[in-house]
Amino acid sequence: MKPTPSLREQIRTQLADLKMPGALEALDGILAGLDGGTLHPPAAMAALLGAQIALRNNRRLQAAMRSSRLPVVKTLADFDFAFQPSVKREQLESLHTLGFLERKENVVFLGPPGVGKTHLAISLAIAAAESGRRVYYGTLGDLIASLEEAQTAGRLMQRMKTLIFPSLLIVDEIGYLPISRTGAMLFFQVIARRYEHAATVLTSNKGFEDWGEIFGDEVMAAALIDRLVHHCHIVNIRGNSYRMRHHAELRSALHPRQSVPDRTTLKRRSTRQEATAR
Ligand code: ADP
Ligand code: MG
Repeated sequence: MKPTPSLREQIRTQLADLKMPGALEALDGILAGLDGGTLHPPAAMAALLGAQIALRNNRRLQAAMRSSRLPVVKTLADFDFAFQPSVKREQLESLHTLGFLERKENVVFLGPPGVGKTHLAISLAIAAAESGRRVYYGTLGDLIASLEEAQTAGRLMQRMKTLIFPSLLIVDEIGYLPISRTGAMLFFQVIARRYEHAATVLTSNKGFEDWGEIFGDEVMAAALIDRLVHHCHIVNIRGNSYRMRHHAELRSALHPRQSVPDRTTLKRRSTRQEATAR
C-alpha cells in the first residue's frame, strides 16, 4: 500500500519535529525505493534510521576532531593488514569494539617508524569519538610542553584536568624527543591519575627497556610502566615502514638486516610481550 501524500507530509513534519535532518534528507529516496519495490519496509526503516545515525556520527566526528586535537582522520578500514602481518586483524577489530575503554585498560603500540602506530592509535580515538566519548590527542612532546607552560602560568590544575578527564587519552611518539625532568614528573602525574579511571593509548618507537632513558629517570619510568601495563594490550609491530613501501631499495640500504630478523631479538621481544600483556 502506497502512503498517501498527506502521510508523507506527516512523516516529514515528524522528522523535522524530532530534529532528524539526516533521515529527512534521505526520506524521498527511501520512499521512492518503497514505491519502486526495490526496498522492503524493514529495510526502509533501517535506511531511514541509518541515515540519521550516519549524520549524527559525522557531526560528532567533526566536533571531536576540533576538541580532541586529532591531526588527521585514520580508520581501521584504511589499514592494510596484508602489508603488516605482525598486526593481528582480530586483535585490532576487537579493540575497536571499545571494551577496553569500559574496562579502563590501556593500549600500547610499539614498533619502528612508519609501521602504523599513529594510524591505529588515531583510528581507536575516532571510534571512541564516534561513540560519543571524550577524546584527547597529543604527542608526548606537545603534552609535556603544554603542562610546563600551564605550570609557569599558574594554570597547571586546569591543564591536568584536560588530560585526566577524557575517556580516552592518546599519547603519541614516546621516545622521539628528549624530556625535561619536570616534564617527566608532570606526565607521570597524568598517568597516575588516569590509572584505573580511564583508558590511555600510547605509541613508542622504543621498547620499555629504553623508557628510563627517555624519561631521564629509571625509577620513575618503572613506576610509570608498572601502572600502564597492569591492565594493558600491547601491540608489538614488527615490519617495514609503510611510508617507504615503494622504495624497497632505499629501505634495504637503510636497514640492511631488517629482511632477515634476528631470531634471538624476536624471541626476547615476544617473551617480554607475554610477560607484560594480561
Ligand atoms: P608510525 O606512527 O608507526 O610512525 P604512521 O601510523 O604515522 O606510522 O604511518 C605512516 C603513514 O603510513 C600514515 O600515513 C599511515 O596512515 C600509513 N600507514 C602505515 N601503515 C599502514 C597500513 N598497514 N595500511 C595503510 N596505511 C598505513
Ligand atoms: Mg607515529
